[in-house]
Amino acid sequence: MSPVTAADRRRVLDAVPTGLFIGGSWGPAGDGGTFDVHDPATGEVLVSVADATPEDGLRALDAAVAAQAAWAATAPRERSEVLRRAFDLLRERADDLALLMTLEMGKPLAESRGEVAYGGEFVRWFSEEAVRVTGRYGTNPEGTGRTTVLHRPVGPCLLITPWNFPLAMATRKIAPALAAGCTVVVKPAEQTPLTTLAFTAILAEAGLPDGVVQIVPTTRAADVTGPLIDDPRLRKLSFTGSTPVGSQLLRQAATHVLRTSMELGGNAPFLVFEDADLDAAVTGALQAKFRNVGQACTAANRFFVHERVVDAFVDRVAEAVRGYRVGAGTDDGVDIGPLIDDRAVDKAAALVDDAVRRGAEVVVGGERLDGPGTFYAPTVVRDVAPGSEILRTEIFGPVLTVVPFADEDEAVRLANDTEYGLVAYAFTRDRARGQRLAERLETGMLGLDVGVVSNASAPFGGVKESGLGREGGSEGIHEYLETTYVMTPDPFGA
Ligand code: NAP
Repeated sequence: MSPVTAADRRRVLDAVPTGLFIGGSWGPAGDGGTFDVHDPATGEVLVSVADATPEDGLRALDAAVAAQAAWAATAPRERSEVLRRAFDLLRERADDLALLMTLEMGKPLAESRGEVAYGGEFVRWFSEEAVRVTGRYGTNPEGTGRTTVLHRPVGPCLLITPWNFPLAMATRKIAPALAAGCTVVVKPAEQTPLTTLAFTAILAEAGLPDGVVQIVPTTRAADVTGPLIDDPRLRKLSFTGSTPVGSQLLRQAATHVLRTSMELGGNAPFLVFEDADLDAAVTGALQAKFRNVGQACTAANRFFVHERVVDAFVDRVAEAVRGYRVGAGTDDGVDIGPLIDDRAVDKAAALVDDAVRRGAEVVVGGERLDGPGTFYAPTVVRDVAPGSEILRTEIFGPVLTVVPFADEDEAVRLANDTEYGLVAYAFTRDRARGQRLAERLETGMLGLDVGVVSNASAPFGGVKESGLGREGGSEGIHEYLETTYVMTPDPFGA
């Protein structure tokens, strides 16, 4: 790949729409307000984007409600083909979208390209699922009647997304909602609205009818989304973000018993047993920790390593981390980009300092790096004491924490000692142990001898305080479908 030039940046930034998209038209916020989007690698302003008001939010819901019946009535094949065209456009424009993503979010360009491919897969997957929504027909146990089960689109949806995967978190919601026949209002994260705006333009270009998708970037998340959640015309809320905000939204959603999906925080354990293939475990650990600069809900947060292999594991991981190049995600060969903002750097620093105060040893890194930009050194910390804040809190940064364990029971107990349950990873050559872990670990997903679990064909989601519902797989579209059954008499008159 050739290096990114100033002209490349200008071209992708000039091309991105910066308005609100409501009822098929781009336009300014009702009060003309805008907000700046920054490059976390430099702190520079990239562009300004329309800042939706609460009235704009309600206008967006009006448009979604107005378009709902017609969209639900389109042939599944028609919905499928709009999504398929959007997927093709995403693929054609992958390089520009990846650059836009790196500029607003900071991750290395290669990872942004990976996210465009991953995010695009949800669009392709749900273009295929759109035509495969089936019901069922059966005889009741008494033989006196027949039940027909059918599925219908749930109705207008509010989709709220975080900044860490600006495309994939949006496509994981938008694609199944559209495939199911729902209209949507999307509220992207304030820090990274650009990629989602660009994707919205792609959907319009792919032939999506007016009013099916609206996007309302805003700096007033609660003020704009609150009235929508309180409006009985809204039928579904799908949120990806932190557990505290998700929990608050669930309380709001209770008023009208709003259907919800919640993809919330994680605190993933990563278990390395004494019989693990250590090469594979190290590779998996680096992926599970440092992908997205550690800013992933699936990021491994706590590494529990058997005491017989802990020294070898730490040595090898530390050697790899020492070789990491830190810098702007647009620079060639960079492994670790900036964190999203100063608060994220402060959080990583405070967690490492607390662990060290409680006796942990910093093997590599352990410091913030000079600006411009918001950087924290890739870090390995070992022998983290129980009770350290870093074992309880989602780090969301490039810090790998190691705790030794003595046997399987202890590893499972440590792994489950958290209110979260999104994903766990385990490396062991013992197949029976792998199966036991799948049944014993309190988790929605388990990476067994792999460091990345995400795939459009699989039902992504968590248990405990990591959330409700699933995105992807054959389950994903059902988050946007209601179930109705029809009872009829036995047609043979029995
Ligand atoms: P966040 O602070 O919870 O924000 C997520 C989204 O919610 C943003 O669009 C935000 O808007 C909006 N928001 C914040 N407060 C709100 C309120 N009171 N009412 C309505 N909307 C509100 O989370 P984040 O920092 O962006 O993302 C990181 C978190 O997301 C982590 O905990 C991570 O684990 C989780 N996550 C989970 C998954 C998963 O699939 N389980 C995937 C990715 C990330 P503003 O941007 O304007 O604040």
